[in-house]
Amino acid sequence: MSHPRRPAPARIGRRATRPAAAALALALVTAVLAGCNSGSTPDASPTATRTAPPSPSPSATDPVATAAPAPATEEPAPVTPPAPAPGFDKTALSIDDPASLWVVSDKLRPLKPVDYAPTDLVTLDVASQNPPVFRREAGDALLALFAAGEAEGAGAFQVQSAYRSYATQVSVYQGWVSQLGQAQADIQSARPGHSEHQTGLVADISPVPLSCALQACFGDTSQGRWLAANAWRYGWLLRYPADKTAVTGFTYEPWHFRYVGVPLATEMHDTGVTTLEEFFGLPAAPTYAG
Ligand SMILES: [Zn+2]
Repeated sequence: MSHPRRPAPARIGRRATRPAAAALALALVTAVLAGCNSGSTPDASPTATRTAPPSPSPSATDPVATAAPAPATEEPAPVTPPAPAPGFDKTALSIDDPASLWVVSDKLRPLKPVDYAPTDLVTLDVASQNPPVFRREAGDALLALFAAGEAEGAGAFQVQSAYRSYATQVSVYQGWVSQLGQAQADIQSARPGHSEHQTGLVADISPVPLSCALQACFGDTSQGRWLAANAWRYGWLLRYPADKTAVTGFTYEPWHFRYVGVPLATEMHDTGVTTLEEFFGLPAAPTYAG
């Protein structure tokens, strides 16, 4: 399969380590084999239960509410109480717009349109197994993440896989369907339009030197452990935790990180909510709708 390179991305970042052709081919096969890039069925998009942030309303004992009309003379003006600290606004960004940093893509929530392609893709100059294309903000955040991990002793990182276009996914998925039938294809690959990789906000990460690529044992490497504990600080989310397969529809993928931005990643970390579905009150998406 050829790698997506649509809107001729700019190059940013550091110099990459170029893999040998054989390693690249192996990586592509491995990436396809991994369920890492799954999809779902048409439009069963649930409606999010959105919680508006609490609005400050004066209580009965509030001096503002209870103060009697001030006499015309020398009574000091009532002091306005400080507003309560605002809660996290879960409606600040869209979870439906594929261009939103908070878009929730799972087996019940195809991207709309299904052939969505980001407009700000860049090719990151970073160690990689495949040309690593990201949306610009995610690319910058990945460089910061890798630099912090190395500085804090986790070791070196590389990108195994990043942006994949709709066209690439069509070709990969159809290849599996013709070879194995749809049931097995759904296990091996994502249905086009349902891969989170199509958002340009995802990195499959491996250690340098390469080991446990796209395997559960990545979670036991120093890189995998550091990422699980610290990725939130740079806006990244371990998207498919081991204990949330029934919610996300994916088995444990300790290598698959989704960029959601620092505010949301921090809020999820601080509240201990580990999936986007649970955080936004969306239905679990264990399987495709049809
Ligand atoms: Zn992935």
